[in-house]
Amino acid sequence: LGPNTYLLRAREREFGAHNYAPLPVAFQRGEGVWLWDVEGRRYLDMMSAYSAVSFGHSHPRLVQALTEQAGRLALTSRAYSNDRLPLLLERLCVMFGYERALPVNTGLEAVETALKAARKWAYQVKGVPTDAAEIIGCNGNFHGRSIGIVGLSSVAQYRQGFGPFPPGLLRIPYGDPQALEEAITPNTAAFLVEPIQAEGGILIPPSGYLARCAEICRRHNVLLIADEVQTGLGRTGRLLGSDHDGVRPDGIILGKALGGGLLPVSAFLADRAVMDVFTPGDHGSTFGGNPLGAAVALEVLDLLLETRIWEHAERVGRRMRERLRADCPPCVREIRGRGLLTGIELHPDGASAGLAAELLLARGIATRDTHRSVLRLSPPLIIEADLAEQAAATVCEVLAALPQ
Ligand code: PMP
Repeated sequence: LGPNTYLLRAREREFGAHNYAPLPVAFQRGEGVWLWDVEGRRYLDMMSAYSAVSFGHSHPRLVQALTEQAGRLALTSRAYSNDRLPLLLERLCVMFGYERALPVNTGLEAVETALKAARKWAYQVKGVPTDAAEIIGCNGNFHGRSIGIVGLSSVAQYRQGFGPFPPGLLRIPYGDPQALEEAITPNTAAFLVEPIQAEGGILIPPSGYLARCAEICRRHNVLLIADEVQTGLGRTGRLLGSDHDGVRPDGIILGKALGGGLLPVSAFLADRAVMDVFTPGDHGSTFGGNPLGAAVALEVLDLLLETRIWEHAERVGRRMRERLRADCPPCVREIRGRGLLTGIELHPDGASAGLAAELLLARGIATRDTHRSVLRLSPPLIIEADLAEQAAATVCEVLAALPQ
């Protein structure tokens, strides 16, 4: 460790809660796909802050939108409206084909928002008795870490010691429509699903899975809610992850990249039949829908439409995975992904993906394990194909140096 890094890490360990185990690097500056640490070393960002920095670090147009808006008006709360939010709401609805949008800040908040909407919808519209509405989620999901949401998690670490959790949260195996059919009861409000389980290890369900789930939900009058926090906004090579199956969920959750990697902006989108269960005072937050976030998100959506970046992500991701498959050493069990969301699963009895991530850092590539055995590659969507291929070659070299 360099001296600057060492001192910063010592401080963080001394004064910070130990709820993360960051790799041994402290970044100071970012530009495009590059990051610089406090020792002046440069790294290729193959992480994008868990898929949030889609247009690269400090994109000039996003920085300009942020700074101009910050100099004009940043926060009013929802006690009043502002001159940015209505434009964002309209843009979200038109772009994604929903009647209403509810803005909040983080992905987790938008998931909670969706679940609250679904429960009240079940009560008010579907006629489920008070406090009896059920939500079905999937094993291996990641939707955030609030008490309400980890109540739906299958990951022991997220739950152990944090209970009790709200009732009415059920889980089924991911990728199995029959399991959904069997789990639905008259009290089921919604099925919450990720089009790809990103934090779960870049798990891609069988083709047609979401379409079958949509059909089952429709037949049972259950809402299909897609958590597109990570898969949305071009990451998987389509505008939305659900687009791979040609599905229009009853509600979608957007976050991460919506704030351009500059600030948290998230939203829940649905039609009136669902969203109009909310009445003034039901739900909200001080910062949700603030003009600063709205100005940046509007610019993000402009950039998305102008560049059709998902098409680039599809091409580059495909080439990167071809290169990985061609060069990968025997310790690799599987390479899977869509667009620029890729997982490299290592054989479970070999070296950990965490070790691979540390070695890659030493080679100037910033990435992380999502699991003991899965290394994730999720660079900014703007990455050039040659650079992505070069990075893939370096990843293979580093993996080849591990015990096979
Ligand atoms: N949903 C999904 C699919 C996610 O990947 C994440 C974050 N990794 C979240 C929700 C939570 O988002 P946030 O960290 O912004 O609360």
